Amino acid sequence: MTFTTRFAPSPTGPLHLGHAYSAILAHDMAIAEGGSFLLRIEDIDQSRARPEWEAQIYEDLSWLGLSWQVPAIRQSDRTELYKGALSALAEMDVLFPCWCKRADIETAASAPQEGVPRFGADGLVYPGTCRWRKTAHAVSNDVLRLNIEKAMECPQVPEQLSWHETGQGRNEIRTYQTACLPQDAGDVILRRKGMDASYHLSVVLDDTDQNVTHVVRGADLEEATPIHALLQRLLGLPTPIYHHHHLIRDDQGKRLAKRDDARAIAKYRAEGATPQDIREMVGLPLLSG
Ligand code: GLU
Repeated sequence: MTFTTRFAPSPTGPLHLGHAYSAILAHDMAIAEGGSFLLRIEDIDQSRARPEWEAQIYEDLSWLGLSWQVPAIRQSDRTELYKGALSALAEMDVLFPCWCKRADIETAASAPQEGVPRFGADGLVYPGTCRWRKTAHAVSNDVLRLNIEKAMECPQVPEQLSWHETGQGRNEIRTYQTACLPQDAGDVILRRKGMDASYHLSVVLDDTDQNVTHVVRGADLEEATPIHALLQRLLGLPTPIYHHHHLIRDDQGKRLAKRDDARAIAKYRAEGATPQDIREMVGLPLLSG
């Protein structure tokens, strides 16, 4: 299979130095292997995605000297793929509709009989309030969660999940005890309210569908990888190689966020920086020639 990497930004704000690092790294890795670099616009959250941010992504990446296989794909065009996977999971009886509001979850999670609220890879671990509901109860824009205990009982899910990790100087097989998922992640959301899928579901389906062999992304997503490996086993999808890179931080050591307009690529560009300057700022080798 062709060595294939991707950059998967959400068009919800300007790309900053952290995005530049991730995109250039994924691009350079693919070029070094004679492979392909793909672009995926993660606009699954249509309430936050904006066409002007998407346009800015193309502009910033081109300015950085990156080129990708065209056309770039856009998650908002892939409803059928996500629906198909949700139907398959409903068939396996591992989904349930969740009608809880955020406040309900916080209250239930901190109720004395439930013990101390737990935080995992996906925020507050869901206390299970709606787990008894059947998928048949779900209406089209309900939240759908994965019943993690039932998912673990599926025959295709092994006791130990594993994947190949190459980021930050590593080259190892990472293993994870599936039995840790209830406390580390809980009943994760696979379809958000009014959306076609959640990040976790769309990312595994899209990476497979685009034949991505190497997922290059920030270390902040390393914790989500067991959830992705579980979904891949459940759905019979291959697990790509993961390359979680360090995060680019500001002078105070905080990771950059979308609102860090001060670090936006467009701003450096407007101030006269060159793509080589950006590479230097994030500690990546300069382009020769
Ligand atoms: N869309 C995600 C972001 O903008 C990236 C997800 C991924 O690379 O897996 O942070």
